[in-house]
Amino acid sequence: MNKSWGAACRALEGELGADAYKNWIAPLDLAGCEAGIVRLVAPTSFMGMWVERNYGGRILALLRQAGFDATRLVFDIAPQGATTLHAQQTQHKKMDGKGAETADQEPHARGALPMAGNAFGKASAAQKDLETAALDKRLTFENFVVGAPNELAYASAKRVVHGQSVSFNPLFFYGGVGLGKTHLMQAIAWGIRAQRPEAHVVYLTAEQFMYRFVQALRARKIIDFKDLFRSVDVLMIDDVQFIAGKDSTQDEFFHTFNALIDQGKQIVVAAHQAPSAIEGIDERLLSRLQGGLVVDLHPTSYDLRLEILKRKYAMFQKDHSTVRLAPGVLEFLAERVQSNVRVVEGALNRLIAFAGLIGREVSVEITEQVLSDLLRSTERRLTVDEILRKVAEHFNVSLAEMMGPRRARMIARPRQIAMYLAKELTSKSLPDIGRRCGNRDHTTVLHAVKRITELQKTDTQLCEDLAHLRRRLAG
Ligand code: ADP
Ligand code: MG
Repeated sequence: MNKSWGAACRALEGELGADAYKNWIAPLDLAGCEAGIVRLVAPTSFMGMWVERNYGGRILALLRQAGFDATRLVFDIAPQGATTLHAQQTQHKKMDGKGAETADQEPHARGALPMAGNAFGKASAAQKDLETAALDKRLTFENFVVGAPNELAYASAKRVVHGQSVSFNPLFFYGGVGLGKTHLMQAIAWGIRAQRPEAHVVYLTAEQFMYRFVQALRARKIIDFKDLFRSVDVLMIDDVQFIAGKDSTQDEFFHTFNALIDQGKQIVVAAHQAPSAIEGIDERLLSRLQGGLVVDLHPTSYDLRLEILKRKYAMFQKDHSTVRLAPGVLEFLAERVQSNVRVVEGALNRLIAFAGLIGREVSVEITEQVLSDLLRSTERRLTVDEILRKVAEHFNVSLAEMMGPRRARMIARPRQIAMYLAKELTSKSLPDIGRRCGNRDHTTVLHAVKRITELQKTDTQLCEDLAHLRRRLAG
């Protein structure tokens, strides 16, 4: 019987290539064959499942060729203990020739590994190469500005840190680039580290997860890999859309995932899209991901952007009190840079760097020049019609009245405001604007612009109306 198994193995080696053979087939042992059922012993259930799925059919066919009465494969799991340990250690020695380094490595002896960076414990040289990207010191809850677009995500992240038990698993964050997903995940890691220093928290991107997985396969350390990931208390995988479509990694992730969830360990995942919108995602993984709490981070709002700008500017001023932005600059940025937080931050950084260079207060005009490329690309093409409509709506007058001849103040003022905003927010000429505002002369438009400019100095209600309208028109 063993002879035939040996023959089948050689044939498999020829078919699969030396690497795959060494990874998957060599570690198997033949336990017996009875009534068409061939029993193989695999080091772990994962390995058994993997082999069955990927090579099961071929193994059966080759066994039959070798003279077995083989209709079905059954995988048994090698008992934990001396034999497996021995198998693992000799495997290590065979594999990388660094037996001395790996043999003393006990998969469970990871006394001091509070954080991802040390997750491999007494790591071998190869494993050190795989160190997780360190957590960023800035990405804490304290530094996270909470606003309507992200308050639910923030609350659920806090809950993971402070909750008594795991109440939603996994926690799935999704939303566009630069909206704070990574920030919240790392804040969770810092938070747990502060609260429960003994907990094993691992944060890494799906790409790093895949890289480690592939490395472990190559180095034949898949067992260590599995042990490592299955012994964490909190596992966070960022940018998970990355592994969709990458079948073997997705598979491994799925098994890791199940193992942890079954043990009641917390998992946090982030992606650019909602689970169901991730292309190429495995159905089983999808339903698991949807089984917890799915929270989206919404695009930034004016208020959130302004708050973030204020916070970052204040932080900056603590160290560089000479750099000054004129009043209104932050509001201007919040209004005009309607993008994700990363872009908003980038704009502020550029402005501050510039302010440092010129050594005097930076006005709105300077801001406009310094950031002209950025502002242009985010500027929406507003039309005079749109402005007329929004202004009419705001003041509760009809569009017909705006365009019509009536000069009653309750209509003339909104009309003037519309002209003023059209001049400010579009590149249309005065005659053009006049034509579009009920066929008026360009001097009427000029008068309106002057009048509204003048009134702003004294009329705070008008200023508020304008600010509100600019925001509406920008959004
Ligand atoms: P994502 O992972 O969603 O692409 P990040 O978490 O990397 O986005 O955030 C991009 C940048 O914006 C980071 O520098 C982060 O600190 C910052 N950021 C995002 N949201 C906030 C927020 N609510 N408060 C403060 N900073 C934020
Ligand atoms: Mg991110």
